[in-house]
Amino acid sequence: MKTIGLIGGMSWESTAHYYAHLNRGAKERLGGRHSAKQLLYSIDFDELATLQHADHWDEATALIVDAGKALERGGADCVLICANTMHIAAPELQAAIQIPVLHVVDVTGAHIHKTGAWRVGLLGTAFTMEMPFYRDRLREKFGFEVLIPNATDRAVTHRIIFDELVHGVVAPKSKEAFRKIIANLIDQGAEAIILGCTELMMIIEPSDSAVPIFDTTTLHCEAALDFAIGTAKVVAV
Ligand code: GLU
Repeated sequence: MKTIGLIGGMSWESTAHYYAHLNRGAKERLGGRHSAKQLLYSIDFDELATLQHADHWDEATALIVDAGKALERGGADCVLICANTMHIAAPELQAAIQIPVLHVVDVTGAHIHKTGAWRVGLLGTAFTMEMPFYRDRLREKFGFEVLIPNATDRAVTHRIIFDELVHGVVAPKSKEAFRKIIANLIDQGAEAIILGCTELMMIIEPSDSAVPIFDTTTLHCEAALDFAIGTAKVVAV
């Protein structure tokens, strides 16, 4: 089994899901007492979020690159950035290390592509929805048309992520707000919804949407398991 390197803490609430999902997945695939070999570099989220909101993307990228280098030195065979937003740093990280960075957009896009959906709705932080790095990769690699919520819905989404979900708060009224935001994206023509923030799976379920939901946290973990173990699921004994 290969060792999965995780750059986490963005926030630790979602990183905990990565850690658990990878361990459960290894057990599902290999059976018995198996768990996933993982190396975790967990950053201080306040440090990162302050840089993000001050528009200091070079310094934020440097944090990710340093973490990735540390994971490579520590013996990781691949690296996952356990957040969608900080995939803004993925090209610089990949250029700085020899081991592969499993890119969340590539993993998610490949799954959606198989379904034949073409117009995709993107939910995430304001950075992920509004800056070009994420939407451009979806367009360039997969030819998708990417729809984002209107300005009010983007502000609501960003607020719920930063004021609630990263603190572990899952509020019923926020779930209701997401149901409306998703319905608005579907009205715009979305055929699939990307949960392009690793905390969104804590609050949004497939039943909150009339079109298929693609959860980046789950898809990213499954891609890491494919890399570390292989695709075959082995029945536990
Ligand atoms: N977990 C997040 C994401 O997937 C948001 C936190 C952050 O800004 O890094 O984008």
